[in-house]
Amino acid sequence: MRAMVLERLRTPLVMRERSAPESASGEILIEVGACGVCRTDLHVVDGELPNPKLPIVPGHEIVGRVAAMGAGVAGLAIGERVGVPWLGSTCGLCPYCRSGRENLCDRPLFTGYTRDGGYATHALADARYCFPLPERRDDAEVAPFLCAGLIGWRSYRMAGAGEGIGAEGTGPQALGLYGFGAAAHILAQIAAWQGRRVYAFTRSGDDAAQAFAKSLGAVWAGGSDEMPPEPLDAAIIFAPVGALVPMALKAVKKGGRVVCGGIHMSDIPSFPYRLLWEERQVVSVANLTRADAREFLTLVPQAGVKSEVTRYPLEQANEALADLREGRLQGAAVLIP
Ligand SMILES: [Zn+2]
Ligand SMILES: [Zn+2]
Repeated sequence: MRAMVLERLRTPLVMRERSAPESASGEILIEVGACGVCRTDLHVVDGELPNPKLPIVPGHEIVGRVAAMGAGVAGLAIGERVGVPWLGSTCGLCPYCRSGRENLCDRPLFTGYTRDGGYATHALADARYCFPLPERRDDAEVAPFLCAGLIGWRSYRMAGAGEGIGAEGTGPQALGLYGFGAAAHILAQIAAWQGRRVYAFTRSGDDAAQAFAKSLGAVWAGGSDEMPPEPLDAAIIFAPVGALVPMALKAVKKGGRVVCGGIHMSDIPSFPYRLLWEERQVVSVANLTRADAREFLTLVPQAGVKSEVTRYPLEQANEALADLREGRLQGAAVLIP
């Protein structure tokens, strides 16, 4: 197998040949068809997340086919198409796992961070955390759903939306999305489909991203330093920029909620208490549960969600990461081995 490997933090990935790994008990070996590039991968490469496994193969939006199965794998077949998300495994025993919050597990493994991921021709995964994917779309178009989609969905629920799927009139009517990248471009379509008014905030002056947001159902798009034309019921911040927290608080109405959807953010500057006053809330979203994934993957075809992807050959993983870092992408980057 071939893999793009991070050997030392803050250095480019290098292509390595390895022998294909054996699937241990409970694991499957996946022949990778596509792997999405997520902002979290940048945080791993940049050493912004504690204790990564090194060397590590990044990538946690894997779509591929089951090539081999270890002992005890149930419910999957050789050749079946599966997706592998960020949540690689959990302990099943800690208080979080036992209370339906496996996203907060005390002893988790994360794909492409603490276990090898999908910037490769093959990847191993714990079968219990993989999802069968219906054979309809191209692998590359499905890949962004596995993190951008799932974390976006969990953030959306945290913003008070998502309940009563398909029904109008529940949760926030006016929803702000700060940072219009892979997650927001998926979520905007769902929110618009559910009848919400989406306000998209991009880097100031990024006309292309603003036009893109409007084409996906946003009723307004502007710079993140602008105020929306109406106060927001809730806002989700996907950009890793702490200064957006007070800006979003300023844009939400009384009782409004600001959800931070990223795993890492620059420091949040101090702000006057009056921005938080009147029961405004700031919360974060961590990881995903398998229940989130089942719910979201069921919703995608109902809402007719499309993903816009830019394909890169696996060897160009460093170029894909650089384009994501510089904001040169519309939608999501996907590596094709
Ligand atoms: Zn646990
Ligand atoms: Zn991700």
